[in-house]
Amino acid sequence: MPPAPPAPLLSDTGWPRSRAGATLTIDLDAIRANYRTLRGLAAGAECAAVVKADAYGLGATRVAPALERAGARTFFVAHVDEGIALRPHVASTTRIFVLHGPLAGAEADCVRHDLIPVLNSVEQIRGWRATARGLDRPLPAAVQLDTGMSRFGLSEQDIDRIEADPDGWRGIGPGLVMSHLACADDPSDPASARQRARLLALRARLPAAPVSLAASSGIFLGPGFHFDVVRPGAALYGVAPNDSAPNPMRPVVRLQARILQTRIVGPRDGVGYGLTYRPSAPRRIATVAAGYADGFMRHAARDGRAWLGTQALPIVGRISMDSMAVDITDAPDSLTTPGAMLDLLGPQHGVDDVARGAGTIGYEILTSLGHRYHRAYVADGTPSPERT
Ligand SMILES: *Cc1c(COP(=O)(O)O)cnc(C)c1O
Repeated sequence: MPPAPPAPLLSDTGWPRSRAGATLTIDLDAIRANYRTLRGLAAGAECAAVVKADAYGLGATRVAPALERAGARTFFVAHVDEGIALRPHVASTTRIFVLHGPLAGAEADCVRHDLIPVLNSVEQIRGWRATARGLDRPLPAAVQLDTGMSRFGLSEQDIDRIEADPDGWRGIGPGLVMSHLACADDPSDPASARQRARLLALRARLPAAPVSLAASSGIFLGPGFHFDVVRPGAALYGVAPNDSAPNPMRPVVRLQARILQTRIVGPRDGVGYGLTYRPSAPRRIATVAAGYADGFMRHAARDGRAWLGTQALPIVGRISMDSMAVDITDAPDSLTTPGAMLDLLGPQHGVDDVARGAGTIGYEILTSLGHRYHRAYVADGTPSPERT
């Protein structure tokens, strides 16, 4: 393995902490630790990292270099433009795969920016083949097979069509043959074994290449699913790979929002849009600077909590676009004055907990996190120097 490049100089991003309503802290050390955990579980396979959707909302240009320091040499994004944006931030020898492959006409951009497309259809294979012919050299690609999820990839009939074509796989240097599991988060679901068997049958008809099937949850299905390359995303960022065991991943994000104003709300008053919360006795209510535009969906109010250290404080009423109301009656007044921070995601309450309350999954909580935060990246145990 080549020596790790020097630690990138980290600075905070987003809004200045002093003026931002909320601070999102992203622990790059935890992401690296999660990478090492997953790589250890899939020993023998290469552990790639999925950094699509801006590394699940956490900042691909920060996360990918941090993962390179932990040894990652292969990244996956969804769109060509995500790959173009990432390319200057990783080593020239690091591979970037584009899961959607190129839209027709974008092949030259893939070549120019040194991106490897995942070819999902006969049309994409033809387009890539023509690009290779134009350059008079084979071009690396991944070929995706649909083994049962019916989302991306070649069907058996598509493979028939390519075999019937005199140009076949010519010019396609398959760097990878891959597929994706639909039900890997439920280890008891027989669909995963069926998809695995289908992958083995279909790949035999393709030129020899390393094979990849498992994303985060698939890694936990055991060595039979690891093949040559594993492709975790969510688990790197602390999301639980399945519900059937305690989450082995380290939490990565903390979201702290400030109290903007406090007031006593009496039995004749209501709180928020629709006045849906009406206390039966006087309560002390804080207006907190995060709302659904910041990724705190209105559903999160149902059974939602903010935290003052280890003390849970209920979110009450409807969540607004820019704020929410929290009942701080039981918290010490001195710790809940305007400017004080409450945890919305944090040590007591992670992305999966918030997701459960909101009727969604940790993935959606992460990728919904907004852009109106002060962002602090923690690396090598220290927060980045503060921007003011
Ligand atoms: C998103 C994605 C991944 C990563 O999935 P996680 O569940 O986040 O680990 C891997 N492979 C493909 C094809 C994907 O679309």
